[in-house]
Amino acid sequence: MGLGVLTSGGDAPGMNAAIRAVVKTANYNNIEVVGIRRGYQGLMDGDIQRLTSLDVENISGRGGTILKTARCLQFMEEEGREKALEILKKFDINALVVIGGEGSFKGADKLHKLGVKVVGIPGTIDNDLTYTDYSIGFDTTLNTVLDCIAKIKDTDFSHDKTTIVEVMGRYCGDLALYSALAGGGDIISIPEKRLDFDTICSKLKLRMSAEKNDNIVIITERMYDLQELKKYIEGKLGVDVRTTVLGFIQRGGNPSAFDRVLASKMGVAAVNLLINDYSGRAVGIKKNEMIDTEFKNVNTKINNKKDDHNILNMLIY
Ligand code: ATP
Repeated sequence: MGLGVLTSGGDAPGMNAAIRAVVKTANYNNIEVVGIRRGYQGLMDGDIQRLTSLDVENISGRGGTILKTARCLQFMEEEGREKALEILKKFDINALVVIGGEGSFKGADKLHKLGVKVVGIPGTIDNDLTYTDYSIGFDTTLNTVLDCIAKIKDTDFSHDKTTIVEVMGRYCGDLALYSALAGGGDIISIPEKRLDFDTICSKLKLRMSAEKNDNIVIITERMYDLQELKKYIEGKLGVDVRTTVLGFIQRGGNPSAFDRVLASKMGVAAVNLLINDYSGRAVGIKKNEMIDTEFKNVNTKINNKKDDHNILNMLIY
């Protein structure tokens, strides 16, 4: 078996630990590995190099992905995938590990249906895949978000200010939800539990009436026009409101121990699935157990984390 590994979609801290685990597990089982650079784009271009166990030493602590990543429209067309098939044949690659998010898995499923053995590893900071409790990168990003919020809080406290902090997540509120659970915010609005402008104002008013004049409002990206929300609160409550979009600072950085361990376990599980002749499946973690499921069960529908929402209700104002 010639095994290829690629990273696709947005980079996520921990992807390198997954690459390391894939290469080492394969080599341990006498399987040669090639790294495909820049995701599906590199696959179509034949941007491929051999990866040995020595090549992947000392990479698990690095953020981003040593293989680089890309979003590739051409691969979404049949023609692009035919091109990829030719390259796989040319390089004698008959099995593939794809590390990425939902989109990357859709592409992987299409390759699987074309007869390539493919297994997916969830690498996305958004944690928006419902089949797995955690995806690689989420924990590191959560810690980055908490760190940023702690700094904003110091200034807000000193100046009695209110700040709206917009965090990533695409259409999933996990980054905002868990940062609030960890003590990062006072009011939270996420796609799963959206607060309208008036509700945010009345929650702020309640805090201010108790002389809590430093307030962090955490919101998930793409939910509101931030400036509109800021102006609405200022008009309604007569206070200055700051806005901070954390943006790309959330993506990079050294992966947390949790992400490194998770990525390592997932890398091993992915290669073991391929060795045992499985294909068309994504590995994940549920209730602390490694699991795998068919690509067709992977989706990003809103996660109804009821228990977590209930806890949040008790912890924040
Ligand atoms: P992230 O969650 O970080 O955004 P992702 O894997 O969901 O990661 P996408 O940009 O959605 O990121 O997808 C990555 C790549 O996967 C796309 O650029 C494209 O090459 C491929 N892809 C996405 N959707 C499909 C599809 N329906 N069919 C074939 N390939 C796809």
